[in-house]
Amino acid sequence: MGRLETGIHKGRLTPAEYDANFSDLHPRLNKHEALVASDRCYFCYDAPCMTACPTSIDIPMFIRQISTGNPLGSAKTIFDQNILGGMCARVCPTEQLCEQACVRNTAEERPVEIGRLQRYATDAAMAENKQFYSRAEPTGKKIAVIGAGPAGLACAHRLAVKGHEVTIFDAREKAGGLNEYGIATYKAVDDFAQKEVDYVLAIGGIEVKNGQALGRDFSLSDLSQQYDAVFLGLGLAGVNALRAEGEDLDGVADAVAYIAELRQAGSKADIAIGRRVVVLGGGMTAIDAAVQAKLLGAEEVTICYRRGKEHMNASEFEQDLAASKGVIIRHWLAPKRIVDKDGKVAGIEVEYTELRDGKLTATGDVGIIAADQIFKAIGQTFEASGLGALRMEAGRIAIDGEGRTSIEGVWAGGDCVLGGDDLTVSAVAQGRDAAESINHALAAAKSAAAVA
Ligand SMILES: Cc1cc2nc3c(=O)[nH]c(=O)nc-3n(C[C@H](O)[C@H](O)[C@H](O)COP(=O)(O)OP(=O)(O)OC[C@H]3O[C@@H](n4cnc5c(N)ncnc54)[C@H](O)[C@@H]3O)c2cc1C
Ligand code: SF4
Repeated sequence: MGRLETGIHKGRLTPAEYDANFSDLHPRLNKHEALVASDRCYFCYDAPCMTACPTSIDIPMFIRQISTGNPLGSAKTIFDQNILGGMCARVCPTEQLCEQACVRNTAEERPVEIGRLQRYATDAAMAENKQFYSRAEPTGKKIAVIGAGPAGLACAHRLAVKGHEVTIFDAREKAGGLNEYGIATYKAVDDFAQKEVDYVLAIGGIEVKNGQALGRDFSLSDLSQQYDAVFLGLGLAGVNALRAEGEDLDGVADAVAYIAELRQAGSKADIAIGRRVVVLGGGMTAIDAAVQAKLLGAEEVTICYRRGKEHMNASEFEQDLAASKGVIIRHWLAPKRIVDKDGKVAGIEVEYTELRDGKLTATGDVGIIAADQIFKAIGQTFEASGLGALRMEAGRIAIDGEGRTSIEGVWAGGDCVLGGDDLTVSAVAQGRDAAESINHALAAAKSAAAVA
């Protein structure tokens, strides 16, 4: 099958090309590189990097431990705050978080490579399955966690450490949430997501029930009756509709579903890709879909975003990554109509946009971009049933500062709640903090019962 064949085809590349294209984006530092990188840290007393980390990892401490030849101690410092520190080291937009805040991030210098150092330490501990935590005395309390993504796993682990029994219910076949089904392949190679799930579950006291969906197999009120507390880490299961003519044509696909298919494929050669691909959107999903389309052998990949570069949710680093792979990013273009040829995608009609009095406005100036495949990466939405009278706000679950929802005994965190920033690390922080709040509430209820 020729590389330049139009239409959507499998196996555009050789096995060696697939392997090279989907190899580790930032391979692990070796010992020498880690020592050199850690030596650049000033061990700031007020560590702005640490304040910028949603999980508040003691960054100067873990870097110091690496520089003194103690990677396992360093890993413990990381896991104390973030049990999914291995995945976060791979996927965090560090250039917007800790490394952005690093005092060495100046015009003349570059920041300390905090993310890569974190990976160096966590990989060292996970390679020898070094477990740092044992469980407290059993409390006799049972907690249900819905969703085995970063939020649910972080919550379950912290609850297990406290001695509670946890059951995680997840609708999908495998645990891990978007770590397993969403994160770009080249960020988490070698089945890392499942290895991390196993590492987290090794604490014991956590049972995972896959293929169990809230709203289909059970309701929130069922769980509230059977368990002492419930944590909802449901993520965002729905996607926004394009609302453009031709959306249902053969060749138009949802980017998140396509990425999931790619992540689960036994061989990249099994994934069909167009010759000319257009991705609609301006976030991390759009970049991941576009880059992976290029890596699968698409000849021409164009991201169309309806606003300007400065409005894109994808970080500067992600945009540069896409450009380095040959993805073209075009701004101020809104999709108008998918062009149809014999029931298949032949292109997309787009309309130029501009800001008028701060409002995004279509200019009437239209054009057609030829394409045989179109990916929609225009945002995910919260979608769940079986939640009863749970209070929602702006389409997501409303919580207080501790992750408590409007229903007593029910907590929530991660992408499904209002006020998050839709990052893996923030989901971990919210899951962990909700577990602390649950533990506190159960202990308080026990003390109150003892007094009575
Ligand atoms: C394509 C893509 C790429 C991304 N890349 C990055 C990145 O590089 N870096 C980064 O920091 N963030 C990235 N993100 C965002 C990040 O993945 C999420 O913020 C994070 O996974 C949220 O964790 P969560 O636990 O809240 O939800 P999820 O990871 O979505 O997990 C939710 C879990 O709940 C389960 N579930 C849902 N509904 C039900 C139900 N009714 N019953 C039972 N179970 C249910 C799901 O099966 C899933 O396992 C990306 C997101 C996408 C979509
Ligand atoms: S801000 Fe930079 S130099 Fe200072 S402690 Fe953090 S990583 Fe080290």
